[in-house]
Amino acid sequence: MTKPTFSLLTGDSGPVQAGPESGVVRIPLRGHSTKTIKKKEAVNPGTLVAGHPGPSVGDAHSPVRGVVTDINDFEIVITAGTPRPTPGRPAEPGAPDVEPVSLDGLSRDDLKKALKGLGVSPSAFLKAPTLIVNGLNPEPGTGVAEVLLAQCKATLEKGLSVAQRLVEPATVLLAVPAGSSATLAACTAKPVAPVYPNSLDPLVVKALTGKESMGGVTVVSVMDLYGLGRVAETGLPLTETVLTVGGKALVVKVGTPLADVLELAGIAPAPGDRVVAGGPLRGQAVAALDRGVAKGDYALTVVPEAAFPPVTDKACINCGECALVCPSRILPGFVSRFVEFKMFDKAKDYHIEACMECGLCGYVCTARRPLLQFIRLGKQTLELQASALTACRLQGE
Ligand code: SF4
Ligand code: SF4
Repeated sequence: MTKPTFSLLTGDSGPVQAGPESGVVRIPLRGHSTKTIKKKEAVNPGTLVAGHPGPSVGDAHSPVRGVVTDINDFEIVITAGTPRPTPGRPAEPGAPDVEPVSLDGLSRDDLKKALKGLGVSPSAFLKAPTLIVNGLNPEPGTGVAEVLLAQCKATLEKGLSVAQRLVEPATVLLAVPAGSSATLAACTAKPVAPVYPNSLDPLVVKALTGKESMGGVTVVSVMDLYGLGRVAETGLPLTETVLTVGGKALVVKVGTPLADVLELAGIAPAPGDRVVAGGPLRGQAVAALDRGVAKGDYALTVVPEAAFPPVTDKACINCGECALVCPSRILPGFVSRFVEFKMFDKAKDYHIEACMECGLCGYVCTARRPLLQFIRLGKQTLELQASALTACRLQGE
């Protein structure tokens, strides 16, 4: 098989538009605690609904005025609008308005705490001598970075000034697709060939610094910078994400059901089509279209049923195609088999952690094996094993 070539340029996605106004939002939870909120509680835009126990993960907030109608392990459901008073009962008290928080003049530690409380994960902005703003579209067909650089420069620059206070870099570089004239204040623009997988952070670092390691470099996507910029501009919690869908760029409230986003974009998936949160190579197929948009989602892609033969757990035939395309220079066929047979230590020996999750191995796999899915499962299992081991050691101390 010839090596696949995917352009990272999408051209004009038109002006960034507002996403749908949904009657119900479903805010996804990722390890967040739901102790802060109860069912039937009234919320306003920006009300804290779920704090995260980790200091480096942003808390979750309501994007709408409404009432909490369900809480489970995976999501908080909010029905938008003001509830009608029940006849004979006093009206429920409304939620207090959310006051803006100024980030000016805060020390680095206080800034990190404030951002966490405003829904931004400080872990994306680690201290490093070099800060790279990744201005390449993340995947083929996802034009979000291009659009933000062209149309939201002031917000990005606001975000960058906050990012610089966290990262404290000596050098700030902006990776742009070769031929682009995009710039940001205080950045030196550097061209990168706009061909996938060059948009992946380790490859951007290699292209700009020549280094094959991420040590000493923090890479921030323009999507993260936009989120940071919105928080800095408004002083209010981050409750939106910018994503591309069907060639449009939309600012979508977190928790908006995917079905509503597709409807606004004029897309009606046929039975058998796969709806993918993310792009066609790295995205994750979603099980239900009432799933809410998550913070950080940058694209919604519909893969027609006829586009690819279905992926199956068939045996590897050792053709080696996956190894030929792997930018991490590992052996995806071997690694996936080790995970499949629960030989996680072997997968580690074969450098599973070096996988950049580009998805190219699965795309070329002759046997149509779910290689990226196996590798993600292996990484998650090894992470869980490592944290369980750390917890046991701490208990033994
Ligand atoms: S997803 Fe596959 S091809 Fe891409 S880096 Fe990982 S193992 Fe290599
Ligand atoms: S995993 Fe797929 S591409 Fe890789 S060697 Fe096996 S059959 Fe070939």
